[in-house]
Amino acid sequence: SDSLTVGELAKKLYREPSEIIKKLFMLGVMATINQDLDKDAIELICTDYGVEVEEEILVDTTDLEVYFTEDKEDLLGERPPVVTIMGHVDHGKTTLLDSIRHTKVTAGEAGGITQHIGAYQVEANGKKVTFLDTPGHAAFTTMRARGAKVTDITILVVAADDGVMPQTVEAINHAKAANVPIIVAVNKMDKEGANPDRVMQELTEHGLVSEAWGGETIFVPISALKGEGIDSLLEMILLVSEVEEYKANPNRPAIGTVIEAQLDKGRGSVATLLVQNGTLKVGDPIVVGNTFGRVRAMVNDLGRRVKEVGPSAPVEITGLNDVPQAGDRFVVFEDEKTARQVGEARSSQALQAQRSEKTKVSLDNLFEHM
Ligand code: GDP
Ligand code: MG
Repeated sequence: SDSLTVGELAKKLYREPSEIIKKLFMLGVMATINQDLDKDAIELICTDYGVEVEEEILVDTTDLEVYFTEDKEDLLGERPPVVTIMGHVDHGKTTLLDSIRHTKVTAGEAGGITQHIGAYQVEANGKKVTFLDTPGHAAFTTMRARGAKVTDITILVVAADDGVMPQTVEAINHAKAANVPIIVAVNKMDKEGANPDRVMQELTEHGLVSEAWGGETIFVPISALKGEGIDSLLEMILLVSEVEEYKANPNRPAIGTVIEAQLDKGRGSVATLLVQNGTLKVGDPIVVGNTFGRVRAMVNDLGRRVKEVGPSAPVEITGLNDVPQAGDRFVVFEDEKTARQVGEARSSQALQAQRSEKTKVSLDNLFEHM
């Protein structure tokens, strides 16, 4: 965050809040201890004390977003795109996810047990693509509401025999708001009554104009049920990736987002994480949402134990003290002590917020009954 309260600033400068308030007063600013000070005001006070303002002073180290920093260009390497499938109910999202997974995963992984961890990776033309398997809309709404961007590309599935429907439009709006490129998969092409032209026409009204009609949106006719057009769809995903150049630094402690999490009877807290930058390793001290721990074991989407995973990889981990929520951020720290400090601060903040929420509710109730 870019602001501090008078009280917080006083603490950082080892001064009494009253002294800061007095100084602000001399500078023509009336302030209270809980008042938020912007960067300029903070700088003014610090300069007055002869303290050089480092960026550090403004950094709230318990806010996980502050660790989502960008790396220098020369440290970056290519990373696989992260794809979400969205579309109206019954237009074939689940069938498409299954179809991609079956043609691309189980075929090449004889005997490999594909387990459900909420995301999976496939390989096409020697390149990896990550698919998020969470119900597209839920993933977008909960995660986006919490400010976490996880998707690079949206596949918009539209059934050729049904056309644009309310959730199709919803999906378009989500993707647009998140500034995520859309590839349209015109599905159920095998069906009698399939009318791809109608889909193209209807989508034009929502700003998605096919390349065939002079626009910029890629349309791919498919049959998720018969497994037709899947390869072209994957090729188009790789094409978009080449243009967008998704990058990450594999040589830093991992950061990313929780895809899903639950309590397992035997294994305790189990969380599927999407590594968005860096490399996640077994033994890493980690803060996940309002909980923390050490990565005890990691299992990939093929059900295999792995020691480390790089950018854009989905992985299931154990070793957390508590169960985080989908959309929570995670950050790996160099040492366990810092992870513990940040984790404990976050869990007590969360507890406090929960308590004050409860107090508020009961006060509201009280007033209601008066
Ligand atoms: P979702 O609600 O978007 O996940 O849709 P589903 O994947 O569950 O599919 C809904 C129905 O459409 C199921 O009965 C599928 O078998 C069927 N379906 C999906 N894709 C195709 C397709 O390409 N062709 C045909 N004929 N049916 C399909
Ligand atoms: Mg479904």
